[in-house]
Amino acid sequence: MQHQKREAECLEDVMNQTVDQLKEYLHNLRQYDHILSLLYWDMNTLAPEKGLEARVSAINYFSAEQFRLATADEYGRMLEELRKPELFDALDPAMQLTVKRYSRDYERFRRIPEDFYTSYTETKTRSEKAWEKAKQSADFSVFAPYLDKVISMTKEYVHYMEPDRDPYEALLDLYEEGIDGDTIDRVFAELKEGLLPLLNKIEECPRPDLSALEGSYDMIAQKKVQDMLLAYIGFDADAGATAESEHPFTLDLSIGDVRVTNHYKEDDPLSAIFSAIHEGGHAIFGQNIDPSYEGTAVEKVDMMGLHESQSRFFENILGRRRSFWVPVYDKLGELLPQFKDIPLDMFCSAINDVHPSMIRTEADEVTYCLHIILRYEMEKAIFRDNIPTDKLPQLWNDKMEELLGIRPENDGEGILQDMHWSDGSFGYFPSYLLGSVYDGMFLEALETEMGSVDAILEEGRISEITAWLNKKIHQYGSLYTSAEVLQRVCGRELTAQPLLEYFYKKYAKLYGFC
Ligand code: ZN
Repeated sequence: MQHQKREAECLEDVMNQTVDQLKEYLHNLRQYDHILSLLYWDMNTLAPEKGLEARVSAINYFSAEQFRLATADEYGRMLEELRKPELFDALDPAMQLTVKRYSRDYERFRRIPEDFYTSYTETKTRSEKAWEKAKQSADFSVFAPYLDKVISMTKEYVHYMEPDRDPYEALLDLYEEGIDGDTIDRVFAELKEGLLPLLNKIEECPRPDLSALEGSYDMIAQKKVQDMLLAYIGFDADAGATAESEHPFTLDLSIGDVRVTNHYKEDDPLSAIFSAIHEGGHAIFGQNIDPSYEGTAVEKVDMMGLHESQSRFFENILGRRRSFWVPVYDKLGELLPQFKDIPLDMFCSAINDVHPSMIRTEADEVTYCLHIILRYEMEKAIFRDNIPTDKLPQLWNDKMEELLGIRPENDGEGILQDMHWSDGSFGYFPSYLLGSVYDGMFLEALETEMGSVDAILEEGRISEITAWLNKKIHQYGSLYTSAEVLQRVCGRELTAQPLLEYFYKKYAKLYGFC
C-alpha cells in the first residue's frame, strides 16, 4: 500500500515537472508568435513601402527561429513523455488537448524536409506576386505556370504531413478539423438543392431601387460608425484596437489584445459597415475565451469554420435584420447624415439585395453560398480529378453559369478574383460556408432558449445575445471541435436545413412571396 502510494506520488512529480517544462517551452514559442503577429499587423496597416526589405528580413529571422523551436528534439521528447497513458490520463482537458494537437503538428512538421519547406515558401511568395499581376491584367496565362507549381507542391506538402491520407481530405482537416469531405458533400448538396429554387423565386421579383444610397460618404465619419457598431455588438475597446488596411482582418495577439482592421470606400459605406460587424464578430470570440486557457492550445482557435460562424452570425444573422438597426439607426444618421433621408425599410432592402454577381466578396448572403460551392467543386476537380491547370478557367466559367446563371467576361472577374489558391490555401473556402451552416443551427438553438431574436434586438438587448454566444461557444476557445460544439449547443449533427429555413422565411417576407 505504502509502496503504491509512493509510486503514485513519484508519477505525479514526473508529470508536474514535465508539464512545467512544456509550459515554459510553449511560453517561449508564443513570444515568436507574438512578435510575428505584430510584424504582420504593422506590415498590413502602417508600414511604409520602402521598409519592405528590412521587414522581410525580420520576418524571415523570427520565422526561422520559430521553426527551429517547433521542430527541436527537446520539444518532441517533452510531448512524447506526456503522451504516455499514465501521465496523459492525469492531465486536465486543456493540457490533454495541447499535448495531442501540438504532437500532431510537431510530427507533421518533422516529416517535411527543410529544403522542400524553403522552396515551397518561396514558390508561394512568387506565385502571389504573379497572381496580383495576372489579376490586374485579367490574364490567366501569367498566373498559370505558378498555379500549376503551387498545386503540385501543395500535393507534395500534404503528402509529407499526412502520407496515408487523401491529400484534399488532409487539406480540409487543416482548416476545419473533424469535418470531412463526405460531410461537406452531404451538406453542400442539401444547400444546392434548397438554394437554386429560392434564387429563382427571388429573381422573379423586382430588384429594390437603391439610387437613394448613391453619394459620397465621409471616411472619418465611416470610422466613427465602425466604433459605434463595435461597441454596440460588444467589442471590448480596452482589449483591442482598430486600424485601416487594404483587406479587413482580425488579429488575435492575446485574449486581452484582439485587433480589427477595416477599409473605407467613399461611395460605398455599406462595405465598411458590414466589414466592421464581421471582424467585430471574430474579435468578440477571441476576447471572450476563458483566460485560464492562456498558454494552452485552447486559446488558439484554428477551426476556420467555427470562427467564421461567429463573424457571420453578427454580420448576417443579426446585422442584416431590420430589428438590429432599430436601436442604432438614428445614431447612424447622426454620423452619416445621408442616412437621415433614407427610410429604415429602404436601408433594409439595400442590405438584403439578393442577385447573382461575379465577385464572391461582394455577394449577398444567399448567392455567397453558391460562390463557395463552386470553389469547393473546383478544388475537388483539381485534387481528385487532376484537371490540367489550363482547363481550369473554362471549368470555373461553366460552373458559374450552372450555379448562378451568369458567365464571367474575363478571368479577372472569374478564376483570378481570390488570392487563396496563389498561396496554397486549398481547402480553406468550404470553411466560410460551413460557418453559415453552423449559424442556421445556432440561430435555431438561440431562439428555442431565448425567444424571438427580433424582439430581443428591437428592445436594444443585443448584449444578451452576445452573452449567450460567450457562454455557449466563445469561452471554450478550441477545447471542442466544431462537431462537438454543434452537439453541445444544438444537440444535433451538422445540417443545412436550419440555414435554408432562415433564408426562406426571411426572403419570402422581404420579397413578398410564399
Ligand atoms: Zn471572416
